[in-house]
Amino acid sequence: MWCAVRVAIVNAGRIISGDVTLGVVEGNAVVVEDGRIAGVGFEGELDLEEVDLVVDANGMTVAPGLVDTHVHPAIGDWSPLFGAVGYWRSVLWSGTTTAVSQGEYGVQGRPTDPGGVKALAILAKKTFDRFKPGGVKVYGGALILHPELTEGDFVELKREGVWITAEVGATHRSLEEVVPLVDLARKHGMKVFMHVGGKSIPESMTVTAEHVVQVKPDVVSHVNGGPTSPPIGDVERLVKDTDLVLEVSYGGNLKVLVDAVRLARAEDSLYRVVVGSDSPTEIASLGTNAIIRALTMISSLGGVPAEQAVALATGNPARALGLREGRVEVGCTANLVVMDAPEGSVGGDALKAMEVGDVPGIALVMVEGRVMNPPPMVIPPPRRGVRVTARRSSG
Ligand SMILES: [Zn+2]
Repeated sequence: MWCAVRVAIVNAGRIISGDVTLGVVEGNAVVVEDGRIAGVGFEGELDLEEVDLVVDANGMTVAPGLVDTHVHPAIGDWSPLFGAVGYWRSVLWSGTTTAVSQGEYGVQGRPTDPGGVKALAILAKKTFDRFKPGGVKVYGGALILHPELTEGDFVELKREGVWITAEVGATHRSLEEVVPLVDLARKHGMKVFMHVGGKSIPESMTVTAEHVVQVKPDVVSHVNGGPTSPPIGDVERLVKDTDLVLEVSYGGNLKVLVDAVRLARAEDSLYRVVVGSDSPTEIASLGTNAIIRALTMISSLGGVPAEQAVALATGNPARALGLREGRVEVGCTANLVVMDAPEGSVGGDALKAMEVGDVPGIALVMVEGRVMNPPPMVIPPPRRGVRVTARRSSG
Protein backbone atom coordinates (compact mmCIF):
# COMPACT_ATOMS: atom_id res chain seq x y z
CA MET A 1 0.00 0.00 0.00
CA TRP A 2 1.30 3.47 -0.90
CA CYS A 3 0.96 5.99 1.92
CA ALA A 4 1.17 9.06 -0.27
CA VAL A 5 -0.15 12.32 1.12
CA ARG A 6 -1.26 13.78 -2.22
CA VAL A 7 -2.49 11.58 -5.05
CA ALA A 8 -3.82 12.48 -8.50
CA ILE A 9 -6.04 10.15 -10.51
CA VAL A 10 -5.81 11.27 -14.14
CA ASN A 11 -7.07 10.13 -17.53
CA ALA A 12 -10.43 8.90 -16.22
CA GLY A 13 -12.95 7.99 -18.91
CA ARG A 14 -15.87 8.87 -16.69
CA ILE A 15 -16.33 9.94 -13.09
CA ILE A 16 -19.46 8.73 -11.27
CA SER A 17 -20.63 11.34 -8.77
CA GLY A 18 -22.51 9.08 -6.33
CA ASP A 19 -25.37 11.59 -6.50
CA VAL A 20 -28.45 9.89 -7.95
CA THR A 21 -29.69 13.09 -9.61
CA LEU A 22 -26.36 14.27 -10.97
CA GLY A 23 -25.13 10.89 -12.32
CA VAL A 24 -21.66 11.62 -13.66
CA VAL A 25 -19.32 14.54 -12.91
CA GLU A 26 -17.68 16.61 -15.65
CA GLY A 27 -13.95 15.98 -15.75
CA ASN A 28 -11.25 13.34 -16.03
CA ALA A 29 -9.20 13.82 -12.86
CA VAL A 30 -9.49 13.64 -9.06
CA VAL A 31 -6.97 15.04 -6.59
CA VAL A 32 -6.76 13.51 -3.11
CA GLU A 33 -5.01 15.08 -0.16
CA ASP A 34 -4.67 13.75 3.40
CA GLY A 35 -7.35 11.13 2.81
CA ARG A 36 -9.94 13.49 1.40
CA ILE A 37 -10.95 14.58 -2.08
CA ALA A 38 -9.34 17.97 -2.74
CA GLY A 39 -10.28 18.54 -6.39
CA VAL A 40 -12.45 17.12 -9.18
CA GLY A 41 -12.41 18.29 -12.79
CA PHE A 42 -10.32 18.35 -15.95
CA GLU A 43 -6.54 17.82 -15.72
CA GLY A 44 -5.84 21.31 -17.10
CA GLU A 45 -7.91 22.98 -14.40
CA LEU A 46 -6.47 21.18 -11.38
CA ASP A 47 -3.17 21.66 -9.55
CA LEU A 48 -1.33 18.45 -10.43
CA GLU A 49 2.21 19.69 -9.71
CA GLU A 50 2.84 18.80 -6.10
CA VAL A 51 1.64 15.21 -6.00
CA ASP A 52 3.36 12.15 -4.53
CA LEU A 53 1.61 9.61 -6.69
CA VAL A 54 -0.11 9.68 -10.07
CA VAL A 55 -2.68 7.02 -10.96
CA ASP A 56 -3.31 6.88 -14.70
CA ALA A 57 -6.85 5.48 -14.93
CA ASN A 58 -6.25 4.60 -18.59
CA GLY A 59 -9.70 5.75 -19.70
CA MET A 60 -11.54 3.68 -17.07
CA THR A 61 -14.38 4.76 -14.78
CA VAL A 62 -13.77 6.33 -11.37
CA ALA A 63 -16.52 5.83 -8.77
CA PRO A 64 -16.98 6.29 -5.03
CA GLY A 65 -16.29 3.12 -3.03
CA LEU A 66 -19.46 1.10 -2.50
CA VAL A 67 -21.24 1.04 0.87
CA ASP A 68 -22.91 -2.20 2.04
CA THR A 69 -25.62 -1.18 4.53
CA HIS A 70 -26.23 -4.68 5.84
CA VAL A 71 -23.59 -7.08 7.13
CA HIS A 72 -23.60 -9.54 10.02
CA PRO A 73 -19.91 -9.92 10.81
CA ALA A 74 -18.21 -11.70 13.64
CA ILE A 75 -15.35 -9.81 15.28
CA GLY A 76 -12.21 -9.67 13.12
CA ASP A 77 -11.72 -10.91 9.56
CA TRP A 78 -13.43 -14.26 9.63
CA SER A 79 -16.79 -15.98 9.35
CA PRO A 80 -17.16 -18.87 11.81
CA LEU A 81 -20.28 -19.99 9.89
CA PHE A 82 -18.27 -20.65 6.73
CA GLY A 83 -14.90 -21.28 8.36
CA ALA A 84 -13.65 -18.48 6.13
CA VAL A 85 -10.62 -16.50 7.23
CA GLY A 86 -9.53 -13.33 5.44
CA TYR A 87 -12.61 -13.06 3.25
CA TRP A 88 -12.93 -9.27 3.54
CA ARG A 89 -10.19 -8.68 0.96
CA SER A 90 -12.55 -10.15 -1.63
CA VAL A 91 -15.22 -7.72 -0.45
CA LEU A 92 -12.82 -4.80 -0.99
CA TRP A 93 -11.80 -6.01 -4.44
CA SER A 94 -15.40 -6.15 -5.55
CA GLY A 95 -15.54 -2.40 -4.92
CA THR A 96 -17.02 -2.27 -1.41
CA THR A 97 -14.96 0.04 0.80
CA THR A 98 -17.48 0.46 3.65
CA ALA A 99 -19.91 -1.85 5.43
CA VAL A 100 -22.46 -1.23 8.16
CA SER A 101 -23.24 -3.92 10.71
CA GLN A 102 -26.83 -4.80 11.48
CA GLY A 103 -25.85 -7.08 14.31
CA GLU A 104 -22.77 -9.20 14.98
CA TYR A 105 -24.78 -12.41 14.71
CA GLY A 106 -21.68 -14.22 13.45
CA VAL A 107 -19.98 -14.24 16.86
CA GLN A 108 -19.78 -17.76 18.24
CA GLY A 109 -21.43 -18.04 21.65
CA ARG A 110 -23.09 -14.68 21.05
CA PRO A 111 -24.59 -13.61 24.37
CA THR A 112 -28.36 -13.06 24.54
CA ASP A 113 -28.68 -11.48 28.00
CA PRO A 114 -28.87 -7.70 28.54
CA GLY A 115 -25.31 -7.39 29.89
CA GLY A 116 -24.03 -9.54 27.04
CA VAL A 117 -25.68 -7.65 24.17
CA LYS A 118 -24.41 -4.38 25.62
CA ALA A 119 -20.86 -5.67 26.03
CA LEU A 120 -20.87 -7.16 22.53
CA ALA A 121 -22.01 -3.90 20.90
CA ILE A 122 -19.29 -1.93 22.68
CA LEU A 123 -16.59 -4.52 21.93
CA ALA A 124 -17.55 -4.86 18.24
CA LYS A 125 -17.70 -1.07 17.79
CA LYS A 126 -14.26 -0.63 19.34
CA THR A 127 -12.52 -3.49 17.57
CA PHE A 128 -13.82 -2.42 14.15
CA ASP A 129 -12.77 1.17 14.91
CA ARG A 130 -9.22 -0.13 15.29
CA PHE A 131 -9.18 -2.79 12.57
CA LYS A 132 -10.31 -2.61 8.97
CA PRO A 133 -10.80 -6.22 7.82
CA GLY A 134 -9.25 -6.61 4.36
CA GLY A 135 -9.01 -2.80 4.23
CA VAL A 136 -12.79 -2.28 4.47
CA LYS A 137 -14.14 0.29 6.93
CA VAL A 138 -16.74 -1.57 9.00
CA TYR A 139 -19.14 0.38 11.18
CA GLY A 140 -19.57 -2.29 13.82
CA GLY A 141 -21.29 -2.62 17.16
CA ALA A 142 -24.96 -2.78 16.19
CA LEU A 143 -26.89 -3.14 19.42
CA ILE A 144 -29.26 -6.12 19.54
CA LEU A 145 -32.17 -4.57 21.44
CA HIS A 146 -32.96 -6.69 24.50
CA PRO A 147 -36.28 -6.07 26.31
CA GLU A 148 -34.52 -5.77 29.66
CA LEU A 149 -32.08 -3.02 28.66
CA THR A 150 -32.56 0.04 30.88
CA GLU A 151 -32.25 3.72 30.08
CA GLY A 152 -28.97 3.70 32.00
CA ASP A 153 -27.66 1.09 29.55
CA PHE A 154 -28.48 3.36 26.61
CA VAL A 155 -26.72 6.30 28.31
CA GLU A 156 -23.61 4.11 28.68
CA LEU A 157 -23.84 2.79 25.11
CA LYS A 158 -24.03 6.31 23.72
CA ARG A 159 -21.04 7.37 25.80
CA GLU A 160 -19.08 4.43 24.36
CA GLY A 161 -19.96 5.50 20.80
CA VAL A 162 -22.58 2.86 19.87
CA TRP A 163 -24.91 4.46 17.31
CA ILE A 164 -26.55 1.65 15.32
CA THR A 165 -29.24 -0.84 16.29
CA ALA A 166 -29.25 -4.34 14.89
CA GLU A 167 -32.35 -4.77 12.72
CA VAL A 168 -35.30 -4.68 15.07
CA GLY A 169 -37.86 -7.43 14.60
CA ALA A 170 -35.25 -10.00 13.59
CA THR A 171 -34.86 -11.23 17.16
CA HIS A 172 -38.16 -9.97 18.64
CA ARG A 173 -41.53 -11.62 19.18
CA SER A 174 -43.94 -8.71 18.84
CA LEU A 175 -44.34 -5.03 18.05
CA GLU A 176 -45.19 -4.38 21.72
CA GLU A 177 -41.73 -5.60 22.62
CA VAL A 178 -40.07 -3.47 19.94
CA VAL A 179 -41.68 -0.03 20.31
CA PRO A 180 -40.39 1.04 23.77
CA LEU A 181 -36.89 -0.20 22.88
CA VAL A 182 -36.86 1.80 19.64
CA ASP A 183 -38.04 4.90 21.53
CA LEU A 184 -35.12 4.54 23.95
CA ALA A 185 -32.60 3.90 21.16
CA ARG A 186 -33.81 6.96 19.28
CA LYS A 187 -33.77 9.13 22.39
CA HIS A 188 -30.09 8.27 22.74
CA GLY A 189 -29.18 9.13 19.18
CA MET A 190 -29.11 5.72 17.53
CA LYS A 191 -29.95 5.00 13.91
CA VAL A 192 -32.70 2.39 13.88
CA PHE A 193 -32.77 -0.39 11.28
CA MET A 194 -35.84 -2.61 11.00
CA HIS A 195 -36.08 -6.12 9.54
CA VAL A 196 -38.95 -6.56 7.04
CA GLY A 197 -40.60 -9.69 5.70
CA GLY A 198 -40.64 -13.30 6.79
CA LYS A 199 -38.81 -14.35 9.92
CA SER A 200 -35.18 -15.34 9.55
CA ILE A 201 -35.14 -17.20 12.87
CA PRO A 202 -38.09 -19.41 13.86
CA GLU A 203 -39.03 -17.78 17.19
CA SER A 204 -39.11 -14.19 15.87
CA MET A 205 -41.93 -12.16 14.27
CA THR A 206 -42.89 -11.67 10.62
CA VAL A 207 -42.59 -7.91 10.02
CA THR A 208 -45.22 -6.26 7.81
CA ALA A 209 -45.50 -2.79 6.24
CA GLU A 210 -47.96 -1.88 8.99
CA HIS A 211 -45.33 -2.66 11.65
CA VAL A 212 -42.79 -0.53 9.77
CA VAL A 213 -45.19 2.41 9.46
CA GLN A 214 -45.74 2.30 13.22
CA VAL A 215 -42.03 2.17 14.10
CA LYS A 216 -40.72 4.53 11.35
CA PRO A 217 -37.10 3.25 11.38
CA ASP A 218 -34.25 5.25 9.86
CA VAL A 219 -33.65 2.40 7.43
CA VAL A 220 -36.16 -0.26 6.36
CA SER A 221 -33.87 -3.26 6.06
CA HIS A 222 -34.27 -5.58 3.08
CA VAL A 223 -37.63 -4.37 1.83
CA ASN A 224 -37.45 -7.39 -0.51
CA GLY A 225 -37.10 -9.75 2.45
CA GLY A 226 -34.29 -11.42 4.29
CA PRO A 227 -34.88 -14.12 3.27
CA THR A 228 -38.59 -13.95 2.38
CA SER A 229 -40.23 -10.88 0.85
CA PRO A 230 -43.38 -9.28 2.21
CA PRO A 231 -46.25 -9.17 -0.33
CA ILE A 232 -45.62 -6.69 -3.17
CA GLY A 233 -48.53 -4.58 -1.84
CA ASP A 234 -46.49 -4.00 1.33
CA VAL A 235 -43.49 -2.90 -0.72
CA GLU A 236 -45.74 -0.59 -2.73
CA ARG A 237 -47.14 0.94 0.45
CA LEU A 238 -43.64 1.60 1.84
CA VAL A 239 -42.54 3.21 -1.42
CA LYS A 240 -45.68 5.32 -2.01
CA ASP A 241 -47.01 6.18 1.45
CA THR A 242 -43.79 6.76 3.41
CA ASP A 243 -40.59 8.71 2.94
CA LEU A 244 -38.45 6.11 4.73
CA VAL A 245 -35.05 4.94 3.46
CA LEU A 246 -35.60 1.55 1.83
CA GLU A 247 -32.85 -1.07 1.65
CA VAL A 248 -32.91 -3.75 -1.02
CA SER A 249 -30.86 -6.82 -0.21
CA TYR A 250 -28.95 -9.37 -2.21
CA GLY A 251 -29.96 -11.92 0.45
CA GLY A 252 -33.68 -11.35 -0.14
CA ASN A 253 -36.11 -12.10 -2.93
CA LEU A 254 -34.25 -11.03 -6.08
CA LYS A 255 -37.38 -10.56 -8.19
CA VAL A 256 -38.81 -8.20 -5.59
CA LEU A 257 -35.42 -6.44 -5.35
CA VAL A 258 -35.81 -5.39 -8.98
CA ASP A 259 -39.55 -4.69 -8.60
CA ALA A 260 -38.95 -2.47 -5.54
CA VAL A 261 -36.36 -0.42 -7.43
CA ARG A 262 -38.73 -0.05 -10.39
CA LEU A 263 -41.49 1.13 -8.04
CA ALA A 264 -39.17 3.62 -6.35
CA ARG A 265 -38.02 4.93 -9.72
CA ALA A 266 -41.59 5.40 -10.93
CA GLU A 267 -42.27 7.46 -7.78
CA ASP A 268 -39.11 9.61 -8.22
CA SER A 269 -37.83 8.00 -5.04
CA LEU A 270 -34.57 6.34 -6.15
CA TYR A 271 -32.80 8.71 -3.74
CA ARG A 272 -34.35 6.71 -0.87
CA VAL A 273 -33.00 3.31 -1.96
CA VAL A 274 -29.85 1.75 -0.45
CA VAL A 275 -28.30 -1.69 -0.98
CA GLY A 276 -27.23 -4.34 1.53
CA SER A 277 -25.78 -7.83 1.21
CA ASP A 278 -27.11 -9.44 4.45
CA SER A 279 -23.88 -11.47 4.48
CA PRO A 280 -22.20 -13.60 5.69
CA THR A 281 -25.29 -15.63 6.49
CA GLU A 282 -27.06 -18.81 5.39
CA ILE A 283 -29.29 -16.69 3.13
CA ALA A 284 -26.64 -14.59 1.41
CA SER A 285 -23.63 -16.89 1.74
CA LEU A 286 -20.26 -15.06 2.04
CA GLY A 287 -21.63 -12.50 -0.43
CA THR A 288 -18.26 -10.87 -1.05
CA ASN A 289 -19.37 -9.35 -4.38
CA ALA A 290 -23.04 -8.97 -3.46
CA ILE A 291 -23.22 -5.19 -3.77
CA ILE A 292 -21.69 -4.81 -7.23
CA ARG A 293 -23.78 -7.77 -8.45
CA ALA A 294 -26.94 -6.20 -7.01
CA LEU A 295 -26.13 -2.88 -8.72
CA THR A 296 -25.56 -4.70 -12.00
CA MET A 297 -28.97 -6.40 -11.62
CA ILE A 298 -30.62 -3.09 -10.77
CA SER A 299 -29.16 -1.51 -13.88
CA SER A 300 -29.59 -4.37 -16.35
CA LEU A 301 -32.89 -5.90 -15.16
CA GLY A 302 -34.37 -2.76 -13.59
CA GLY A 303 -33.51 -0.43 -16.47
CA VAL A 304 -31.74 2.09 -14.21
CA PRO A 305 -28.83 3.97 -15.87
CA ALA A 306 -25.66 2.51 -14.30
CA GLU A 307 -24.38 5.82 -12.91
CA GLN A 308 -27.69 6.15 -11.02
CA ALA A 309 -27.59 2.54 -9.87
CA VAL A 310 -24.12 3.14 -8.37
CA ALA A 311 -25.55 6.04 -6.34
CA LEU A 312 -27.86 3.58 -4.54
CA ALA A 313 -24.76 2.09 -2.87
CA THR A 314 -22.70 5.29 -2.52
CA GLY A 315 -24.28 8.73 -2.09
CA ASN A 316 -27.64 7.37 -0.90
CA PRO A 317 -26.40 5.36 2.11
CA ALA A 318 -23.91 8.10 2.99
CA ARG A 319 -26.72 10.64 3.22
CA ALA A 320 -29.04 8.27 5.09
CA LEU A 321 -26.41 7.47 7.72
CA GLY A 322 -24.58 10.80 7.87
CA LEU A 323 -21.30 9.43 6.48
CA ARG A 324 -18.89 11.87 4.83
CA GLU A 325 -18.19 9.63 1.84
CA GLY A 326 -19.99 8.05 -1.08
CA ARG A 327 -19.55 10.97 -3.46
CA VAL A 328 -16.73 12.21 -5.67
CA GLU A 329 -16.87 15.68 -4.25
CA VAL A 330 -14.38 18.00 -2.55
CA GLY A 331 -14.23 17.32 1.19
CA CYS A 332 -15.50 13.73 1.06
CA THR A 333 -13.36 10.85 2.35
CA ALA A 334 -11.32 9.51 -0.58
CA ASN A 335 -12.82 6.04 -0.82
CA LEU A 336 -12.62 5.45 -4.56
CA VAL A 337 -12.58 2.63 -7.09
CA VAL A 338 -11.35 2.53 -10.68
CA MET A 339 -13.32 -0.02 -12.67
CA ASP A 340 -13.78 -1.19 -16.23
CA ALA A 341 -15.83 -3.54 -18.36
CA PRO A 342 -14.63 -7.07 -17.64
CA GLU A 343 -12.61 -8.93 -20.27
CA GLY A 344 -14.93 -10.19 -22.99
CA SER A 345 -17.92 -7.96 -22.16
CA VAL A 346 -19.98 -6.49 -24.98
CA GLY A 347 -20.14 -3.29 -22.87
CA GLY A 348 -17.43 -0.75 -23.75
CA ASP A 349 -16.81 0.54 -20.22
CA ALA A 350 -17.85 -0.24 -16.63
CA LEU A 351 -21.19 1.55 -16.93
CA LYS A 352 -22.14 -0.03 -20.27
CA ALA A 353 -21.09 -3.45 -18.93
CA MET A 354 -23.44 -3.06 -15.95
CA GLU A 355 -26.28 -2.02 -18.23
CA VAL A 356 -25.90 -5.23 -20.27
CA GLY A 357 -25.63 -7.32 -17.09
CA ASP A 358 -21.87 -7.87 -16.81
CA VAL A 359 -20.25 -7.24 -13.43
CA PRO A 360 -17.38 -4.74 -13.85
CA GLY A 361 -13.76 -5.59 -13.02
CA ILE A 362 -12.04 -3.57 -10.31
CA ALA A 363 -8.65 -2.16 -11.34
CA LEU A 364 -7.81 -0.07 -8.28
CA VAL A 365 -9.20 0.58 -4.81
CA MET A 366 -8.39 3.57 -2.64
CA VAL A 367 -9.42 3.70 1.03
CA GLU A 368 -9.12 6.99 2.90
CA GLY A 369 -6.68 8.23 0.28
CA ARG A 370 -4.50 5.10 0.30
CA VAL A 371 -4.00 3.03 -2.83
CA MET A 372 -4.55 -0.57 -1.73
CA ASN A 373 -2.41 -3.54 -2.75
CA PRO A 374 -4.32 -5.78 -5.15
CA PRO A 375 -4.70 -9.51 -4.50
CA PRO A 376 -2.86 -11.92 -6.86
CA MET A 377 -5.98 -12.21 -9.02
CA VAL A 378 -9.03 -9.97 -9.45
CA ILE A 379 -12.14 -11.73 -10.80
CA PRO A 380 -13.54 -10.65 -13.19
CA PRO A 381 -10.39 -9.09 -14.64
CA PRO A 382 -10.90 -5.51 -15.89
CA ARG A 383 -10.16 -5.01 -19.58
CA ARG A 384 -7.57 -2.33 -18.89
CA GLY A 385 -5.10 -1.73 -16.06
CA VAL A 386 -3.96 1.35 -14.13
CA ARG A 387 -0.43 2.74 -14.14
CA VAL A 388 0.79 4.06 -10.80
CA THR A 389 3.83 6.38 -10.80
CA ALA A 390 5.60 7.94 -7.81
CA ARG A 391 6.32 11.60 -8.53
CA ARG A 392 8.24 12.95 -5.56
CA SER A 393 9.05 11.71 -2.08
CA SER A 394 6.81 13.23 0.52
CA GLY A 395 8.47 15.43 3.09
ZN1 LIG B 1 -33.17 -9.21 8.56
